[in-house]
Amino acid sequence: MILHVDMDAFYASVELRDNPALIGKPVVVGGTPQGRGVVAAASYEARKFGVHSAMPASRVIRICPQAVFVRPRMEHYAAISKQIRDIFFRFTTLVEPLSLDEAFLDVSGSERLFGDGPAIGRQIQSAIAKELKLVASVGVAPNKFLAKVASDLDKPNGFVVVPEDGIDVFLNPLEISRVWGVGPQTAKKFRSLGVESIGQLRELPLETLRFVFGVNCEHFWRLARGLDTRQVIPDRIAKSVSHETTFRNDLQEDDALEAWLLELTDQVGRRLRRHGIFGKTIQIKVRYSDFQTITRSKTLSNSSQTTQVLWEAAGDLLRMVRQENQRGVRLLGVGVSNLSRDAKIQQTLFGQKEKQSADRIDAAADLIRDRFGNSAVKRASSLKHRVKHRGDPRPGD
Ligand SMILES: [Mg+2]
Repeated sequence: MILHVDMDAFYASVELRDNPALIGKPVVVGGTPQGRGVVAAASYEARKFGVHSAMPASRVIRICPQAVFVRPRMEHYAAISKQIRDIFFRFTTLVEPLSLDEAFLDVSGSERLFGDGPAIGRQIQSAIAKELKLVASVGVAPNKFLAKVASDLDKPNGFVVVPEDGIDVFLNPLEISRVWGVGPQTAKKFRSLGVESIGQLRELPLETLRFVFGVNCEHFWRLARGLDTRQVIPDRIAKSVSHETTFRNDLQEDDALEAWLLELTDQVGRRLRRHGIFGKTIQIKVRYSDFQTITRSKTLSNSSQTTQVLWEAAGDLLRMVRQENQRGVRLLGVGVSNLSRDAKIQQTLFGQKEKQSADRIDAAADLIRDRFGNSAVKRASSLKHRVKHRGDPRPGD
């Protein structure tokens, strides 16, 4: 049996728990309208006004003028997330976190010790409530897809079990938008075929699906039957490492953008080095003032954790983006994915000597920052361009 445990309005609930004066008020965790931030999480009180995550704060004050804005405390949430994970680990080591506030658990091997899937789900839900004073919704099902759909059905404090022999009964009435991979566009296509529910989707012959959806047809055909063979993969290695920042004022100058890109890349490199991880694919993200967001990525021939190497790739990508478009930039981000722990294959485009010197610079900079904090070392070119920035959380975090 698979469990999907999803904290309800996580960041907002933590703030309400820690500051009871906020209870009953529409609380918005995220950037302020003055700083052009976005909503990271909204309390249920705020959701009644239509506030949801990723909404610009400026819109929040129009639809909910009495909203109380709270600055996010990411480190605090991460610490609580760890407490939640520790509760999971009492029941199984097969825990696959999807984000700070949700995870899949495979409890198949734990049932002799702790009872069946639903019994374990109940124990976890009540441990989170008792020990952490927080509310979680739980889905219990034979696979990941069904468990995730189930946990979302009865929020907050939901508890939905999908028994092995009740999959069709469970899925039939649900809207097709519940199917993983069905966004607004695909939902529209389905509706044009007269398909609104998953039960109706199951009635469609595979040939029709193939005609309309091409390669995705099998995916939809399987999910409509509640078939999903994805395993719960306990990942202690993150799938990607990234940093991004939102500027108080749009940034125009190429020099300043490059300086920021270097700063962000260095933070990413530092995290890789601290965890002994190497990355192969570099991605940059650029968001303009109208919220249009583009990403560009590049895969290195060899994995690396050296700031200089990552930075050269990121710099190339930024220059490509700037050639296409010179508009002011609101947000800039860098990420590294395709991660491994394999150091052997690390070679660089430089000669061995240059590489050693780049590694020494990284090691020295990391050491100073470990001792004196993050602001102690700023690479020369990012120092030249002091740019005010705000650490807005990413929408949906
Ligand atoms: Mg959640």
